Amino acid sequence: MGAVAVCSGRILGEEVNTRNNRPVSIDWHQVSSHAEQALAANADLERSTVHAARLLKDARVACARPCEFCLAGLKDACVRTVVWTAGKGLIYIDRID
Ligand SMILES: [Zn+2]
Repeated sequence: MGAVAVCSGRILGEEVNTRNNRPVSIDWHQVSSHAEQALAANADLERSTVHAARLLKDARVACARPCEFCLAGLKDACVRTVVWTAGKGLIYIDRID
């Protein structure tokens, strides 16, 4: 699982999850290990778009929907849009500003 923040074609930051934390079984005590949290802590994300993607070991794309804590952190960091993979070739776009 990784996340990249982009604004005006410029990469502002990129992070990966530091622990395996599937979206269906999130360990709420470990949300600080999420890539989105690291992005919010380490880069100025104002007016950016955050792209989150999850790749499985067999290279299939899976769900990277940010958890509620990450969405709140990205909103606090003034991120405008989050794009996340949903598996089966789908992506979702959430406007959070
Ligand atoms: Zn999260």
